[in-house]
Amino acid sequence: MTIFEEVKELVDVPTAARSYGVEVHRGNMALCPFHRERHPSCKLYEDHYYCFGCQAHGDVIKLVQELFGLSAIEAVKQINSDFALGLDLDKPPDNKAIQKRRREIEQRKAEKLHITRMYDILLRYFTLLHKYKIRYAPKAPEDEIDRRYIYAIHHIDYAWYLLETFNRTDKQGQDEIKLEVDRIEREYKRCVEEWGEC
Ligand SMILES: [Zn+2]
Repeated sequence: MTIFEEVKELVDVPTAARSYGVEVHRGNMALCPFHRERHPSCKLYEDHYYCFGCQAHGDVIKLVQELFGLSAIEAVKQINSDFALGLDLDKPPDNKAIQKRRREIEQRKAEKLHITRMYDILLRYFTLLHKYKIRYAPKAPEDEIDRRYIYAIHHIDYAWYLLETFNRTDKQGQDEIKLEVDRIEREYKRCVEEWGEC
């Protein structure tokens, strides 16, 4: 792994952009630092950026180069020091240190994946209840009320509440409702097995 690849793995574009004063809005849309604009048109992805206004684009190293007028290696040095990455740019890379950072990166990725999965479960459960509620609502007063409809109206507010809470809270809060997400997953499976996906 080269020093360039290492820097790119360790620092994502949105984090670097924010730290260097780029104004980042919803959905990681930023006010482009490379042309004058009032509405953000520069999209920041994890590993690159692209401006729909002026077509500026590149990875995190290019971003820092362009922001400060640096060469690639100067940008790498700058990022290394600003983000305290502790990469030794003069020595050949130390395998142990690299492996340790690798593990940290893997761990961070696994955590992200885990959070995405939990959110996905909550969303699927809410969506299912929403479908039940619409599809099985009684059409006439004399209709017998469908069990799925009753179940949905009893649980949908709570499902929405969980989804909202999960969205707003930080990592620690998300860990705290992990058990509840496990229960929701079992509940979701039970619904699908018993009543179908709708
Ligand atoms: Zn631009």
